[in-house]
Amino acid sequence: SKKNGPHGYSFYFDELQTDTQRVLLLDTELRKAIEKREIELYFQPKIALKEEQIQGFEALVRWQNDKLGYVSPNEFIPYAEDTGLIIPLSELIIERACEAVIEMKKHGYGSPIAINISSIHFQQQNFLESIQTILERYNMPASHFEIEVTERTVMNSSNETVRKLVKLKQMGFKIAIDDFGTGYSSLSYLIRFPLDCLKIDRSFVQHICLLDEKQAVVDAIIQMARRLKMKVVAEGVEQVQQVEMLREMNCDIIQGFYYSKPLPLQEVIEFMEYWEMEHQG
Ligand code: C2E
Ligand code: CA
Ligand code: CA
Ligand code: CA
Repeated sequence: SKKNGPHGYSFYFDELQTDTQRVLLLDTELRKAIEKREIELYFQPKIALKEEQIQGFEALVRWQNDKLGYVSPNEFIPYAEDTGLIIPLSELIIERACEAVIEMKKHGYGSPIAINISSIHFQQQNFLESIQTILERYNMPASHFEIEVTERTVMNSSNETVRKLVKLKQMGFKIAIDDFGTGYSSLSYLIRFPLDCLKIDRSFVQHICLLDEKQAVVDAIIQMARRLKMKVVAEGVEQVQQVEMLREMNCDIIQGFYYSKPLPLQEVIEFMEYWEMEHQG
């Protein structure tokens, strides 16, 4: 009801109320969705440039809700982090990733899957146990997975963070730093932590063909990663010109709409069949 006062006051009030209602609805619906396992994963291929091979897939969470419609992870992940719902949500995501590996194996494919782990989950005292328990339940070796953590997660290079990363490596996980270059952290963690991969944030890849500055930064990240014996993934690659430029810079792996948007599991199998057909021999 917009019976506006002279200063649009009640209109503002209505908007506030709508926001509050949405948050309340988000809360109830997200709790229900986790409980009823209505959360899905989509998978985006990562392509190894030199080999012209599928190097793996990144799992991205998807939530379609009756009342709210499609809700972006950019909205509900931060909300889940604020409310602690991220722990059961993250566990559900890991379970779904295990189910995806099983399904891919049925079709004869063994691509590794990258899982995004929130720093809130990572910092839980029983994080390692919770992930171990799920893998055991699915009888799934950790070597099928890569764990993506942001710079925020490794920002405090505490002994506890080192201990967890070392343990994850011992279990068989690969570890990637996500959204590299967007955090505030110093680079000291690159030396302290056992990392396998840097994912260059999309903001650096955007307009890379137009801006010398972006080229310089991406080039420097790639050189540095090479000397640190880490792989580099460029994310958010949309155009052939970006692919060619990144190839010249010896970027290892490309991810983005240029090759494929994130796909539901059934389409992942089709994508792999198609890729095999196009690139055999
Ligand atoms: P992210 O981890 O940096 O994921 C990459 C995002 O970029 C994804 O958005 C993906 O769909 C999008 N993207 C991929 N290629 C392109 C491209 O070529 N162009 C453009 N414009 N975008 C591209 P999405 O799926 O909406 O996820 C957004 C963020 O939500 C993720 O950013 C991640 O931080 C978070 N997120 C998604 N799934 C999970 C999850 O399972 N767990 C956790 N903890 N966070 C997740
Ligand atoms: Ca990611
Ligand atoms: Ca990213
Ligand atoms: Ca990002």
